[in-house]
Amino acid sequence: MTISPTLRPDCGNCFALCCTALGFARSAEFAIDKAAATACPNMADDFSCTIHQRLRPRGFSGCTVFDCFGAGQAVSQHTFAGTSWVDNPWSASSMFAVFKVVRQLHEMLWYLAEAQQRTFDPDLASAAEHLSGHIATVAQGNAPTVLATDVETLHGEVRTLLMEVSEGLRASYGAEDQEAPDGGLRRDDDFSGADLMGADLGHQRLCGSNFRGAYLIGANLRNSDLTAADLLGADLRGAHLHGADLSKALYLTQPQINAAEGDATTLLPERLTGPTHWR
Ligand code: SF4
Repeated sequence: MTISPTLRPDCGNCFALCCTALGFARSAEFAIDKAAATACPNMADDFSCTIHQRLRPRGFSGCTVFDCFGAGQAVSQHTFAGTSWVDNPWSASSMFAVFKVVRQLHEMLWYLAEAQQRTFDPDLASAAEHLSGHIATVAQGNAPTVLATDVETLHGEVRTLLMEVSEGLRASYGAEDQEAPDGGLRRDDDFSGADLMGADLGHQRLCGSNFRGAYLIGANLRNSDLTAADLLGADLRGAHLHGADLSKALYLTQPQINAAEGDATTLLPERLTGPTHWR
């Protein structure tokens, strides 16, 4: 599956917007507190990171997980025409606010591109294309246009479409409905929103399972087959993916992979790459 280069980060053309616009709290992922709209003390004058090669040992693993889906360079070079918040400090607050919105819009475009290409239903493919076109137009608008966007409504429209595509794809791996504890019916492969922290799901055929929004922190997924498994928003921090087949998993993103553990035996979708800490 090909993904537009515009949805991939290009840090060399970005004014370090993730290192300035966003805040973070001291934790296992960040060694320091940093308020939003302030420059990280590790940022160099040329917007590069002075500890880029040592982020994990220096306590900044959170930085290695983040992905802007190409919003950084889009806002820096397109919306603000290549003039940085250093050269024009008056633009800083607007630039940071626009970045936060465009990042969400680009993430939606990432998901929609996959939905459009994976669905078997031409009507859903057409709907995904139409919605993508609208969101791309908004994302490429000027700052006031971007900031006036009703992001929540767009999120809702995208979420509905992604779920429809997922249902269709996962149906081809249909598990039987079973009686749930509440008396209702529940597919025996529906783990949406489930707490699976540390769960042992290794060496299993999990094809077509629904892990949407599931907590898979530290879970063992070694050598499991996740073909057509819906991983939208699943928390894969520290999940063990060694030997797992995720090559045709649904709605997997680079930040999820960056947060997980794996190695050269982990099969990933074409558009994703194994992070450096796997080597
Ligand atoms: S540590 Fe480096 S990558 Fe992380 S926010 Fe600071 S400058 Fe950016």
